[in-house]
Amino acid sequence: MTNELQFRDPALARSLAATLARLVDEIGRPVAVMHVCGSHEQAIARFGLRSLFPKALDVIMGPGCPVCVTDVPEVDEGVVLARQGVRIVTFGDMLRVPGTVQSLADAQASGANIEVIYSPRQAIEIARETDEEVVLFATGFETTAVATAAVILDNPPKNFSVLSAHKYIPPVMEIVAEMPGSRVEGFLAAGHAAAITGSAVFEPFVERHQVPVVVAGFEPMDILAGLVELLELIRNKTPRVANMFPRCVSAEGNIPAQKQLWRVFKPVGGKWRGIAHVPNGNLRLRDEFAHVDARKRFTIDLPSLWDYAPPALAGQCICGDIMAGIRNPRDCRLFNRECVPENPVGACMVSNEGTCKIWHLYGGVPDLEATA
Ligand code: SF4
Repeated sequence: MTNELQFRDPALARSLAATLARLVDEIGRPVAVMHVCGSHEQAIARFGLRSLFPKALDVIMGPGCPVCVTDVPEVDEGVVLARQGVRIVTFGDMLRVPGTVQSLADAQASGANIEVIYSPRQAIEIARETDEEVVLFATGFETTAVATAAVILDNPPKNFSVLSAHKYIPPVMEIVAEMPGSRVEGFLAAGHAAAITGSAVFEPFVERHQVPVVVAGFEPMDILAGLVELLELIRNKTPRVANMFPRCVSAEGNIPAQKQLWRVFKPVGGKWRGIAHVPNGNLRLRDEFAHVDARKRFTIDLPSLWDYAPPALAGQCICGDIMAGIRNPRDCRLFNRECVPENPVGACMVSNEGTCKIWHLYGGVPDLEATA
């Protein structure tokens, strides 16, 4: 009997890999596709899936790590607020992400009050237990932004506010697709973000750029099956949206969650670290929620950072090119030398969803022939 929830079946994996090889042969030239999700890269690296991919198939990680794309001035705002005496709560990965001159961890080491939380709800609990001002430095894509919107709509305490660095994925795919010389012929979209937005959110993108988008889950079989579908669409020259994660994603998505998201946030243009200005790529609080907007509530004295020198190696980090799919961590001369998780130079080595950290942990591109 077939077990439909058999996600780690070696025989099925080999069969899907053989299908990938046949499809690339039929296409008859090298093919590059991009996934836009750190969890996809983690699964690909952790399970050694690149060793199964045909050599002519390049599966590139795009700007799918929310911590990595949080821009330097956004980190600076958190650092400055913390140094001004405001209590900052944020997700653990954010602590060591470099700002212009300091990370939140540096500010914490100099005495600033910074706490790690696991959910926006926990930030509310902290605010309820104190009279101090508590600012949630809120990062992440639409999946996390929904949770931030929910606490804002649920009568938060008066000493609570949000410094939003949330980002919205679909607009950055436009930027990648329009990059001069882009080799990307199709996209693997993240299943968790699509669970909120619905797979149909990608249809205008496919219409505009005539490249297929396949929504995929995070188990090895999900990724291999998603790539097979993507290559079939490329081979057949039939760009469309395909949902290969129907156990979690529908075409319309989670409509109550979307209502909360767009009631609280508006999309605005803004820089993604190292990549570009992304029109409508940043999520900021609507004016109606100015009372919980840390940018409106506090004067953030960014020039106070000007007295400090930036870290010596910061200018050599090529995180932006890696997230744009132009280069990979092996192209960075600091990778696994001066830049390691214990001492990260760039944001991609900080987060568990950053390509450099993932390649540091799991090896990136296994060359099985060389080690055979
Ligand atoms: Fe930046 Fe470090 Fe990655 Fe190099 S290895 S690109 S310095 S994060």
